[in-house]
Amino acid sequence: SGILCLTAKSTMLKPIRACLRCGRCVEACPMGLVPTVLEPLVRARQYKRFEEEGGMNCIECGSCTYMCPANRPLTQGCRDGKASVTAMRRKAAAK
Ligand code: SF4
Ligand code: SF4
Repeated sequence: SGILCLTAKSTMLKPIRACLRCGRCVEACPMGLVPTVLEPLVRARQYKRFEEEGGMNCIECGSCTYMCPANRPLTQGCRDGKASVTAMRRKAAAK
């Protein structure tokens, strides 16, 4: 891995809007997940529910984010959720 340092202009970041409930992210997910459910769970720090909804099976392919017309950070949410769950598991195992 590496670190990319880009300006906001060069990344062409678009404003994040409210979910339109269009279902494109669900259709795009190769793992059969529901990204539009997973991302809010991570934001609400509901990691147990994130696990129950299969969030740990996310392969971080980016398809959901690519397809989202509302520019929601769906893949980023899953990545954050997986990292938090993994950290919690490690902490529990170390006790
Ligand atoms: S990034 Fe994860 S949730 Fe999104 S489409 Fe890929 S596997 Fe599914
Ligand atoms: S693709 Fe985006 S706007 Fe459509 S349901 Fe998924 S999160 Fe919502």
